Amino acid sequence: MNAEPRFDAWLLGRMQDGGMPHLGCEAPCCEDARRRGVVEHPCSLGIRDRRSGGLVLIEATPSIEPQIAMLRNLAGGERPPRRPVDAVMLTHAHIGHYAGLMHLGQEVAAVDGVPVHCTVRMAAFLKSNAPWSGAVEAGHIMLHAHDPGEVGTVEFEPLPGLRVEAVRVPHRDDYSDTVAFKVRGPSQTLLWAPDVDQWGRHEDLLDDLLADVDLAYLDATFYSGDECPGRDLSLIPHPFVGETMELLADRAAASPGTLRLMHFNHSNPVLHDPELARSIVEQGFAIAEAGRCDRL
Ligand SMILES: [Zn+2]
Ligand SMILES: [Zn+2]
Ligand SMILES: [Zn+2]
Repeated sequence: MNAEPRFDAWLLGRMQDGGMPHLGCEAPCCEDARRRGVVEHPCSLGIRDRRSGGLVLIEATPSIEPQIAMLRNLAGGERPPRRPVDAVMLTHAHIGHYAGLMHLGQEVAAVDGVPVHCTVRMAAFLKSNAPWSGAVEAGHIMLHAHDPGEVGTVEFEPLPGLRVEAVRVPHRDDYSDTVAFKVRGPSQTLLWAPDVDQWGRHEDLLDDLLADVDLAYLDATFYSGDECPGRDLSLIPHPFVGETMELLADRAAASPGTLRLMHFNHSNPVLHDPELARSIVEQGFAIAEAGRCDRL
């Protein structure tokens, strides 16, 4: 840590796109959550500028309403009407990461020109598909398209003083490309990498992502390959938790708690097996928890 922190970053959800309970899952993971009334939201991060009170939301999930409510509650302060946050940043066009934008349009919040930062391909997708296109045309959301280009990275500032680097990552690019974000405050830099097919897809990908980063939220969708009966995991690839832990064992041991596992599929035993969770923490990794705050 160097300078005085200026930004707070709260985790607003830690699940894969479908959250938990997960539609159609009748296994104990979700039946249990239903019985206990537990709801876990898809992964999202909320950032506050302590000086200006400005708010940024990373990912617009299908749970955007409770997540912005949580952010507003944690951040406190007054907000101008029809301006629940000052900027939104999107990693890619899978539903857990952008579908919630529809609540910003005419039918619901009808927000007033909220900037939405994404890649050029993602912006083209939003501009040409309803209902998001309607929110763009009516000026509820203002697309800020950034091009990571050949180099694979591009910088922007969603709030003055909050420097963000978007880094291209390999992922099923169904409707858009995919990025991870390095969010730089004066004190610390946080990596947000919810969806990656494989760390080994590009040589040095993981090293590049973690270079000059103090804290990292990492894709931990599946623990192992036998977790999702009836689904072909080769069609929805993610690095398995065991593989990530092997690759990052030294770093986790050297800086315990700075590597946080997130984007959990409802089936992931990390959420359901306390013994397993304990051993992960003992090895220096953290299991992401909604509500956690870091100062950047
Ligand atoms: Zn996802
Ligand atoms: Zn389940
Ligand atoms: Zn995805």
